[in-house]
Amino acid sequence: RVTSGAVRSAPAAHVGAAPLLPVVGGDLPVPLVTGETRAYANLDYAASAPCLSDVAAHLAQVAPYYASVHRGAGYASRVSTARYEHARAQVAAFVGARADDVVVFTRNTTDALNLLARCVPGRTEDGAEGNESEGSTTAPDAGDVLFLDIEHHANLLPWRRGRHRCVVAGTTQRATLVALRAELAARPAALVAITGASNVTGEVLPLAEIVAAAHQAGARVVLDAAQLAPHRRIDLTASGVDYVAFSGHKLYAPLGSGALVGRRDWLDAAPAYLPGGGAVREVTLTGTTWADAPQRHEGGTPNVLGAAALGQACETLAALPDGALAAHEEALRARLVARLDALPGVHRHRIWRDSPDAIGVVAFSVDGYHPGLVAAYLSAEHGIGVRDGKFCAHPLLSRLGAPDGTLRASFGVGSKLADVDRLADAVEDLLVAGP
Ligand code: PLP
Repeated sequence: RVTSGAVRSAPAAHVGAAPLLPVVGGDLPVPLVTGETRAYANLDYAASAPCLSDVAAHLAQVAPYYASVHRGAGYASRVSTARYEHARAQVAAFVGARADDVVVFTRNTTDALNLLARCVPGRTEDGAEGNESEGSTTAPDAGDVLFLDIEHHANLLPWRRGRHRCVVAGTTQRATLVALRAELAARPAALVAITGASNVTGEVLPLAEIVAAAHQAGARVVLDAAQLAPHRRIDLTASGVDYVAFSGHKLYAPLGSGALVGRRDWLDAAPAYLPGGGAVREVTLTGTTWADAPQRHEGGTPNVLGAAALGQACETLAALPDGALAAHEEALRARLVARLDALPGVHRHRIWRDSPDAIGVVAFSVDGYHPGLVAAYLSAEHGIGVRDGKFCAHPLLSRLGAPDGTLRASFGVGSKLADVDRLADAVEDLLVAGP
């Protein structure tokens, strides 16, 4: 054994010993290469988290009534409309929305950020990717969007279609804030687009400082909460964050739902995101009177079941006692980090030397092994699901010095200490066996 027996056989502490909430498929039997089956150890929550049992039960209740919303007088249509609008209220409550904030249902975070990119005043898209601030013909700086070089592509590519400036993060969060403040002071910007937590390393960003810097410079803030929302409470009212985007499938609801929540004025002034039925008040042969947000941006028949599932996931998570989620994940993270750090040849990756907080996401590499090979080994021989690759964050992976990508273990409410122990044991076995 490479690690000390003391670490490997440490008794499970109470916190983290059992899942915090039941999920569907938590004990899914998966086939191993040996022909045996084992309960799946899902350590890939950051890609898509399993559906909460609560959410699945809610879906079963809603499904018999699903019908087109806002248009039918029939009973199913009325029930569906009520459930859809109730989900909107659940989402608003989950993110601590201000009274006049709007909740737009989207397909996912990518969709939500692309929608907002069409709403930034003074910003036109040139269709192609512009270079730093050179991409369009709008008034100088009017619609500039600032973002860091550590972002997921979903919070990078939509902004690159118009005026934008990419700020290179420093080696510390403190230095990163200095760079961001300097960029904001140098030239005005309309929006700072920032992730709440890195989808690669799990490090949480200093949101309060970023919001203060942006607002002082007259810019708004959009929070890409695809990763943060499943792990930490978000409060638009208390934090001052102007917009938040997140995905249902990372928040314990099924695939295909998401939301953009935030200030009404930009959303009401922007062209309809998806022109069509439902987005209008009136259409004549010569003109259109568009509806206000959110309907303005929800053209077509919406994903009612997806919205209902997302709303229920929000409510179930919000009902957890304060701190329970963070404590559960911190117990798992601490165990996994301690186990991996004790293995010679295993390297964990981080962006900053001084980040004080991280969610249940851990990036690591194993010397001498391509990450894809390790991921395949973990799946085939141990029934463990992790992700490998570049995680839709190519600039960040280059920055981390991992051109072939890394491994990423991620967990949440349905995970337990035994899952992360299984991963550490399997990596340890690989190192003992040798290449
Ligand atoms: N932002 C972050 C930080 C993410 O981790 C992801 C997905 O991995 C996204 C945005 C995009 O989410 P989706 O694929 O659900 O649109």
